[in-house]
Amino acid sequence: MSDASTWTLRTPLAEVLPAGLSRKMAQLGLRQVGGLLAHVPMRHAFEEAEAPIAELAEGSVVSARGEVTATRVAGSGRGRRFEAVLCDDSGRLDLVFFNQTYLAKKIHAGHRLRVQGTAKRRGPGLQIANPTFEILEPEGEDDEPNARDERLRPVYPATEGVTSRDVERAIDVVLAPGLALIEDHLPEPYRHERALPALHEAYRMLHAPQSEDEVRAARRRLAYDDLLLLQFGVQMRRAHLRERCVAPALETGPVIDARIRERMPFALTPAQDRVVREIAADLAQTRPTNRLVQGDVGSGKTAVALYAMLLAVASGHQAALLAPTAILAEQHMSSIEAMLEGSKVRTALLTGALTASARTALLERIAAGEADLVIGTHALLTDSVRFRSLGVAVIDEQHRFGVHQRGVLRGRAAASPDGREVVPHTLVMTATPIPRTLGITIFGDLDVSTIDRLPPGRRPVRTRAVLPTERERVYAFVRRRLERGEQAFVVAPSIEAEEFAGVNALVEELRAGPLRGLEVEAVHGRLKKDERDAVMARFRAGASHALVATTVIEVGVDVPNATVMVVEGAERFGLAQLHQLRGRVGRGRKGGVCLLVGEAKTEAAAQRLGALVATSDGFRLAETDLEIRGAGEVFGAKQSGASTMLHADPLKHRDLLELARRDAKAWIARSPTLDSASERLVRDRVLKRHGEGLGLADVG
Ligand code: ADP
Ligand code: MG
Repeated sequence: MSDASTWTLRTPLAEVLPAGLSRKMAQLGLRQVGGLLAHVPMRHAFEEAEAPIAELAEGSVVSARGEVTATRVAGSGRGRRFEAVLCDDSGRLDLVFFNQTYLAKKIHAGHRLRVQGTAKRRGPGLQIANPTFEILEPEGEDDEPNARDERLRPVYPATEGVTSRDVERAIDVVLAPGLALIEDHLPEPYRHERALPALHEAYRMLHAPQSEDEVRAARRRLAYDDLLLLQFGVQMRRAHLRERCVAPALETGPVIDARIRERMPFALTPAQDRVVREIAADLAQTRPTNRLVQGDVGSGKTAVALYAMLLAVASGHQAALLAPTAILAEQHMSSIEAMLEGSKVRTALLTGALTASARTALLERIAAGEADLVIGTHALLTDSVRFRSLGVAVIDEQHRFGVHQRGVLRGRAAASPDGREVVPHTLVMTATPIPRTLGITIFGDLDVSTIDRLPPGRRPVRTRAVLPTERERVYAFVRRRLERGEQAFVVAPSIEAEEFAGVNALVEELRAGPLRGLEVEAVHGRLKKDERDAVMARFRAGASHALVATTVIEVGVDVPNATVMVVEGAERFGLAQLHQLRGRVGRGRKGGVCLLVGEAKTEAAAQRLGALVATSDGFRLAETDLEIRGAGEVFGAKQSGASTMLHADPLKHRDLLELARRDAKAWIARSPTLDSASERLVRDRVLKRHGEGLGLADVG
């Protein structure tokens, strides 16, 4: 064994632990002193002080020790079990281990055991089923009964053949000398101000807590560190972008403002107004804007995006609008073209539907700056798309793209004369409102604008969940609405392979049955662009009554006269998706109705449907969605940085997240690259954890 005074956190456990124990730790992936210290308990069990067997209290968790006097394997099938009799001077305790007959090879008469579990009365004596146990040395210090008082005992993540108890033994060896090696990356006054324990104290409090308060304080410290390091990474990247990249400063002012507003068929709402002002202030700077515009479905994000794009065009630059689906890109194109009619703004639509030659021609126009406002799908993201001077890039419905794709439009512009990279101002629009707290984790480097009010005159969509057995009534209701001149969407459940068959079957059924005599049309992903355009155009013009669709109409589609949304197989859709679908109706002055036809077969499905019926507030629903699914699943572990969150849960630690964000922001504002000597440790830790993921390689 090596001398503890020569240890570092990298000292191999093989040099400090007995061979058997170090092999066990290696099975858990723990090979160095530091790694073992970082292997913190998942929870703590409150351990009773030991008592003589005769004094054990029935019905409570007890600890005792004694000698095994007899063992046997008994029962059969599911009831198969290993039994042992434990005796001390005062009495006898029966132990029974279900499904653990392998213990017959481990525990023998004559062994001394320390056991813990819930004592139950069985006949004349007490019994503990499936106790935790520890085989004691035949003689030694362990043998002192009642040596321990009641205490909190750490329960460690363990694995087959390696118990929490093994980890505890290994920790016993390294804890005291190891703690002395832990350096804190936060200065004492800083910690003090935030009531955070020192790092070595936090580890001590987890491995050997004196109270539950200590456990809480320690976990808070480690969670704070997780969040702070991520926020540091995010803020450093942001500072880096600001320093090394420039965007064209876009002119604003009352004249341009009035000219843009004149183009809109409505006056902006106060909420839109505020967001537009926030954006215009950003765009007037050469510092590249990175702003998230969030607003519930139907809150009017398109007008805000258009405003920003027209600012770019007014200053002689180009603008791009990236939409997640062709239908949405086409819709944006037609509504924007309508608003720009008679103006000099040259628009262009770039989707995968273009022929090769049309595409080439369009790319040339874009590169020559002959297209001012380019709307497109993913096709805009390919390398061959080069703008002459892209001033504003808007990514619509960003949740459909995934976080990693944001910023792709960056770097498409030419390099600047002074060596700095010229990037467009970027606006990211989302209608799946991201709960603020989580947004901070993921979009820590974005500013956020929120359109928090819907345009005037909207009435909430009435939502009902109905069983499939009530379909007849559902469509009778739909029919009455259609006969009044309103329109309906009917969404078929989207199982990829069958989606298209599903839509067609549903159309046939409705045409032949409940909606006989009315115009029912279908739209889905397999339809050619021309046909799809024609179908959408007829529906928009009111020439068809009902549109049966897959989720291609999920986002963005805007037909104010549509008042009814029927979702078939509603239990199969996600919460955000259903909220989006519901957002297709109730856009005009007539109230909307959303009928969710389905039968929840899981608890989660029932919760989803229940939540939709209960509220139409997208922010509340997004929170509910997170609660049902967990942050990792909603945003993907990588995107949310969840894989680097060892101790923090952005949902549980909201206040801490906010604190860490403010702290990191202030700190980075003072010291953008963390390069003073006293910051060496924190910088190393940020880069080690997030350097690669956040592309910080060349920061500083
Ligand atoms: P989303 O935020 O979901 O993208 P849209 O931009 O599609 O919402 O707008 C939803 C509907 O509200 C559209 O029909 C649009 O014309 C209308 N709208 C947007 N802003 C206003 C406003 N200020 N006053 C009246 N109607 C508006
Ligand atoms: Mg939209």
